[in-house]
Amino acid sequence: MIERLFSLGYSKTFAERYYRLWGERALAIAEAMEKPLPRCFRVNTLQIEVPKLTKLLNRKGFQFRRVPWTREGFCLTREPFSITSTPEYLSGLLYIQEASSMYPPVALDPKPGEVVADMAAAPGGKTSYIAQLMKNEGIIYAFDVGEERLKETRLNLSRLGVINTVLFHRSSLHIDELGVEFDKILLDAPCTGSGTIHKNPERKANRSMDDVKFCQGLQMKLLEKGLSVLKRGGVLVYSTCSLEPEENEFVVQWVLDNFDVELLPLRYGEPALRAPFGIGLDEEISKARRFYPDKHKTSGFFVARLALK
Ligand code: SAM
Repeated sequence: MIERLFSLGYSKTFAERYYRLWGERALAIAEAMEKPLPRCFRVNTLQIEVPKLTKLLNRKGFQFRRVPWTREGFCLTREPFSITSTPEYLSGLLYIQEASSMYPPVALDPKPGEVVADMAAAPGGKTSYIAQLMKNEGIIYAFDVGEERLKETRLNLSRLGVINTVLFHRSSLHIDELGVEFDKILLDAPCTGSGTIHKNPERKANRSMDDVKFCQGLQMKLLEKGLSVLKRGGVLVYSTCSLEPEENEFVVQWVLDNFDVELLPLRYGEPALRAPFGIGLDEEISKARRFYPDKHKTSGFFVARLALK
């Protein structure tokens, strides 16, 4: 089994880790990661109602299935020509988005009029979904450090008609300098990205445990900062596209141990790992969720919904 993971290109460290985490299933996950994901899109309800857009696309020969966790999300089952060349795409009636990426904004459940932060926003997929759920009312403070990625974010938000978002080219480690308290915060954290190997196959071999540790340190600092500016009773959604427990369950366990927070339940995905590598975690951890390419036909993804008591 481990030999097969090597032959797919995984480094010894990660092949062994994945076998320890999932046993025989590690191969099913790795093999599913070799296949391209279906192309999915989100209807931009700031510009058009869901049935209107689906009808327009059906008439052009596009077919799709609903993403179970969102009423605006669909994955293409028939794409007679590239959807990105349609006037519907070009005029911002839809946004191409991987299905698991649609879940954090749904889990955050932002309301019109709320004050929301997106601590790692570029290229704006989740920010624009949050704006859509807020009906462009209220305000989103969106941070990112990537200059080029922020240019793309600006273009995306403008194409989609988002007008309630302020973009900051700054580390969200400085979010407290705004002097704002937030109703809701999304931290779609920088991570090693092992759940997106189908798009970035080089990650099978070029990541090390040092990278995982580096990301974990940054994720904890960002979470600490985010929780310091969250209103009591406010909600923070933490997500990553990493498969590594050190960036997921262990980070959430650290939050539970050090802050006055509770995990809120989530309906979709598989329960998070209770005892990764034999390390027993709080029972509550299973309220956080994992998405897997073999089961959900998505990227590997992790989502946790935390409420400040
Ligand atoms: N949420 C985005 C979306 O859905 O389109 C994807 C975000 S991506 C997973 C993580 C982002 O974190 C990258 O764009 C990276 O530039 C950004 N980042 C890394 N360190 C950061 C920091 N200290 N403050 C803010 N953003 C940071």
